[in-house]
Amino acid sequence: ATFADIDLGNALNENIRRCRYVKPTPVQRHAIPIALSGRDLMACAQTGSGKTAAFCFPIISGIMRGGPPPHRPRGARTAYPLALILSPTRELSAQIHDEAKKFSYQTGVRVVVAYGGAPINHQLRELERGVEILVATPGRLVDLLERARVSLQMIRYLALDEADRMLDMGFEPQIRKIVEQTDMPPRGVRQTMLFSATFPREIQRLASDFLANYIFLAV
Ligand code: AMP
Repeated sequence: ATFADIDLGNALNENIRRCRYVKPTPVQRHAIPIALSGRDLMACAQTGSGKTAAFCFPIISGIMRGGPPPHRPRGARTAYPLALILSPTRELSAQIHDEAKKFSYQTGVRVVVAYGGAPINHQLRELERGVEILVATPGRLVDLLERARVSLQMIRYLALDEADRMLDMGFEPQIRKIVEQTDMPPRGVRQTMLFSATFPREIQRLASDFLANYIFLAV
């Protein structure tokens, strides 16, 4: 099967073609249909396996299918993303942001990145312009939540990338604080995807705490 056989919405299918992705990688072949069906997912996948597209495609497709995002006044101080992608480092976040932007070209889905170790002002301005998908490192996101510049109450999709690395870096308290703020009324039901290269006890615990009735995928 090729990406042309998977209906992700015209604009996204066109972007995938532009990126010259023809055949899904193994993690994409298995994860995308599971995620499109609405199920939570824990996937063991290495760097270079194509996992970025595996979580970005269902998120972008789902947001497009959800119709126009809720109206927010221009210049509102609090941003309400519909999807959150958490990643351990500035480099990985920037990389996910670059890819997600290509995939969401002309879809109406706006992707913003926020990471630590860089001035926050530019990130705040980008958030004020509107955001459907927020890519963030845990520390900087906690800062934005404390400043009430981001609210997670509209989050419909949550992806945790390289979860084992985030735990190794000591981000578990921040991650728990962040996830606690999702699944709040009025939306209240998020779909969660957890990606990790390894599956030690600590990751199993995160999976059982954050995922509901999930499918485990090892490729
Ligand atoms: P990732 O594991 O998400 O970091 O992806 C590794 C690299 O493979 C990136 O440069 C992607 O752009 C590329 N890639 C991902 N999926 C595909 C695909 N189905 N066909 C061709 N290249 C891909």
